[in-house]
Amino acid sequence: MLEQSDFIYQDERFADIQLLRYQVPGFKELSLRQKLLIYHLSRAALLGRDILWDQNGTYNLRIRQVLETIYTQYQGDRFSADFQQFTIYLKRVWFSNGIHHHYGYQKFTPGFSQQFFIDAAGQVGVAVDDLLPIIFDATVLSKRVNQAEGDDLLLTSASNYYQDGITQAEAEAFYARQKEKGDSLHPIMYGMNSRLEKRSDGTLHENIWKSGGMYGPYIDRIIAALKDAIPYAENQKQQAVIEKLIEFYQSGNLKTFDEYTILWVQDTESKVDFTNGFTEVYGDPLGLKASWEGYVNFVDPIATRRSQALSDNAQWFEDHSPIDPRFRKKECKGVSAKVINAAILGGDLYPSSAIGINLPNSNWIRAEYGSKSVTIGNLTHAYDEAAKDSGLRQEFVIDEPTLTLLNKYAGICDDLHTDLHECLGHGSGQLLPGVDPDALKAYGSTIEEARADLFGLYYLADEKLVELGLTPNAEAYQAQYYSYLMNGVLTQLVRIEEGHQIEEAHMRNRALIARWTIQHFPEAASLTEKDGKHYIKVHSYPMLRTAFATLLAEIQRIKSEGDLSAARQLVEEFGVKVDAQLHAEVLNRWRALNLSPYKGFINPEYELVYDEQGNVCDVEIRYGEAYDNQMLRYGKLYSNP
Ligand code: ZN
Repeated sequence: MLEQSDFIYQDERFADIQLLRYQVPGFKELSLRQKLLIYHLSRAALLGRDILWDQNGTYNLRIRQVLETIYTQYQGDRFSADFQQFTIYLKRVWFSNGIHHHYGYQKFTPGFSQQFFIDAAGQVGVAVDDLLPIIFDATVLSKRVNQAEGDDLLLTSASNYYQDGITQAEAEAFYARQKEKGDSLHPIMYGMNSRLEKRSDGTLHENIWKSGGMYGPYIDRIIAALKDAIPYAENQKQQAVIEKLIEFYQSGNLKTFDEYTILWVQDTESKVDFTNGFTEVYGDPLGLKASWEGYVNFVDPIATRRSQALSDNAQWFEDHSPIDPRFRKKECKGVSAKVINAAILGGDLYPSSAIGINLPNSNWIRAEYGSKSVTIGNLTHAYDEAAKDSGLRQEFVIDEPTLTLLNKYAGICDDLHTDLHECLGHGSGQLLPGVDPDALKAYGSTIEEARADLFGLYYLADEKLVELGLTPNAEAYQAQYYSYLMNGVLTQLVRIEEGHQIEEAHMRNRALIARWTIQHFPEAASLTEKDGKHYIKVHSYPMLRTAFATLLAEIQRIKSEGDLSAARQLVEEFGVKVDAQLHAEVLNRWRALNLSPYKGFINPEYELVYDEQGNVCDVEIRYGEAYDNQMLRYGKLYSNP
């Protein structure tokens, strides 16, 4: 077994991507039964990969096949500039599960010539004529998810959730009618597992993702892998979860999905857990259709104690939250919190992954049955290891004392902020009776992330955390306050291309909080200039906490009342626009450091080990696979049967 110190976390770099590897601590110590459960669930987590590729765009699977054929069979000069650029393009497409950037959503611009591509395709015998505008014309399908106000969000988005030609107004009317007809107390997540299509007579219908329906062959293989996992389930509850998920994949019935979700939320005893299915809605500009993702994890007992301390005190935090008492939950329940280690990442969580996950997304199930929050410890650890000595902090932190503060406390406070965000933030507060959970429309995700972040920021400075033994002293929170503002105003801009605006919900949220704060509370913190470089200067940390409390109260009001116009105004004013001059400065400073803004992970490999009688006696875990080999292997093993 590799010791922690021998493990190489950083792998290859290309374009704006740094690939990392993650270790799976504790895997070897699991029982054979648990290992086999993880083995089969891991296969299920990888088998939906092509569903996501197709969801991300109509041409993605074909383009991948063409690119991979050229990559593996090309006989020309593989050291030519064109082929090198072609390789980078393919690696980016692999990373994004399609031809659009995974985070900014803009279409990639190939660095190789169209003529090279035509010649190479001809040489390996694949037809590409109809793909040329898709790959080379910047005006065709230019954005995967467009959220610009005033545009028809469906006609201008390249994702494949709605058939070409269906307008935003048509889709919104279709789902408004479904909602009206449905159970308003226990609303199912209308539209989350289907593509909306138009018949020849102009009426709309849903093409359901299920066995025998759209994506049926993929779903059947996922079902088979889930069935292989059942004999190794840890207990009856977990077995019931897997069986209900299979039932959902077979019927596509969203009521069954809710039943599955409830069983899943209630299984808090199993050490191994998983997500497999249509989950997050960030890829749909209307926030209805869920992208496919899969991952498998198991509990990290030490780190779990930390977030358990928070969830044990959930009611205390809710009762002391600086929001209008009408918006507080009278009874905070079911906030389960555990730190887990990922065993495999699949679908929309691969290679770029979240480090904290809070599910389910159904509001009424969260209210009645609770939710599960996890921080993925081994991914966080891999990020931390890779970030050490990057030089970013030295460049953007204003002075030595602040740098010392961050070096001392930033790691622990960042973990704790993630815990507060996931374990308490999202679960806190309530809607006023009768408020539509989707009232904030396209602004809902940003407002929700801001709410959870502000909840965390506010409590990070609370003496309660010292009392619970979660922070070392009453000053440590200052490290997170500083780095949060620095990131929201300055350093996260490195993820945005010059001339672009902020699109992604988490980034919009960070910009919103940081920029609102320095505008409304200049006595707490400000943006200052020193030798042509901008820095965050904090004047008063306690005042900063007051600023966060003030904004939290307003964001919670917006959410609880469903105040769309206030949400729009806040997000548009503080979360979206980028100051071109400041952006250019940040990019220059950052380029000089020569770092990558995005990171993602290469998965470990699992392999069955047999004894002399031919029985499975162990599951081996290996870490060495190269990025391109892993992608090509997945393409072979998990593509259309
Ligand atoms: Zn969140």
